[in-house]
Amino acid sequence: VPAKDITGNIFDIQMFSINDGPGIRTTVFFKGCPLRCLWCSNPESQQTKPQLYYFANLCTKCHRCVAVCPNGAIIVDEDGNVEINRKKCKVCGSCVSVCLNEARKIVGENLSVEEVFALVKRDELFYRNSGGGVTFSGGEPTLQSEFLLKLLKSCTDYGFHTALDTCGYVSWDILKPVIEMVELVLFDIKHINPIEHKRITGESNQMILNNLRSIIACDKEITVRFPLIPGYNDSRENLDVTGSFLNELGIKSLDILPYHRLGIGKYKRLGLPYMLNDIEEPSQEKIDEVINQLENFGLQVSVG
Ligand code: SF4
Ligand code: SF4
Repeated sequence: VPAKDITGNIFDIQMFSINDGPGIRTTVFFKGCPLRCLWCSNPESQQTKPQLYYFANLCTKCHRCVAVCPNGAIIVDEDGNVEINRKKCKVCGSCVSVCLNEARKIVGENLSVEEVFALVKRDELFYRNSGGGVTFSGGEPTLQSEFLLKLLKSCTDYGFHTALDTCGYVSWDILKPVIEMVELVLFDIKHINPIEHKRITGESNQMILNNLRSIIACDKEITVRFPLIPGYNDSRENLDVTGSFLNELGIKSLDILPYHRLGIGKYKRLGLPYMLNDIEEPSQEKIDEVINQLENFGLQVSVG
C-alpha cells in the first residue's frame, strides 16, 4: 500500500516539545491505547476513534447545534444547558461547524503519512541545530503499527532522530520492527506487581516487563519512566522491588513523572468520570523521599 493511502488517527502534533527525548522535537500523538491508567492525563488518547469535545464554558445556549444534530444526541435541560447523549452521538461533526463559539471540537483526525511528515518536516532546522527530532507518543503508537512504521521510515530516511513513547502493552511481533528502526525508547513502569498493575491500568504487566527485557537485549537506548501516583504505586515495597528489578536489568537511570491533575478538564469535555478525585499531587518532600529510595539501587533519578 503506498504511504499516501495509509492513514493514522492522530489527536495532536506538538511542535517545540522538549520533554520527549533530546533537543527540540515534534511529538506526534497517536489515538488509541490498550491501557486505562486511572491517572491518565490524556483521556482523549484512549479510544481509537475520533471523539467529540464539548467546552461547556464557551456555550451561550444558542441551540444551533440541537437543530442540526441528525441523531437527536443533544439534549436541552430546563435551564437551557445542552448536554450530549454520548450513546446516540455518532461524532459526525455537524454540530461543530454550526457552533459560532467553538464550544465543540472533534478530537482525532485521520491523516496520511505524507500529511504528518509534511508537518513534522517544517521544523527540521530546529532538530538539526538542537540534536532533536520526532517522538511518536499517544495513546499507544504501536496500535497503529502499519502507519507508524511508514512514518518512522520517512523520518529515518530523512535523517531525523526518532523516539517511541510506548506503554509496552503490545505483542513483541508488533513492537520488534518498530524498536529496530527507532533510536530511543521511552518506556513506562507503572507498577511492578502484576495484580496491582491490572488494578490501576486494566491489564497485567507481564507482557510489558517481557518487552522491556527484549528491548534491552536489542541494545536499544531506553529511558525508563515511573509515573508517581500517591497511594497507588508509591509504597516502600513497590519502590524497592521496582528499583532492584531495574538494577538487575542494568538500567542506570530513571525519570519520575509526578502525578498531576492537569488532565481533569479533558474528562469533563469528553463526558467521562475522573477516577482519582481522592488523591493530591505529591509534595516535594515525598518526591525527594522516593528519589532517595530509588537511588539506593544505583539509579540516577531525575524528575521529568
Ligand atoms: S457530533 Fe453529530 S451526532 Fe454527535 S452531537 Fe454533534 S451533531 Fe450530534
Ligand atoms: S451551537 Fe455551540 S454555543 Fe450554541 S448551544 Fe450548541 S454548543 Fe452551545
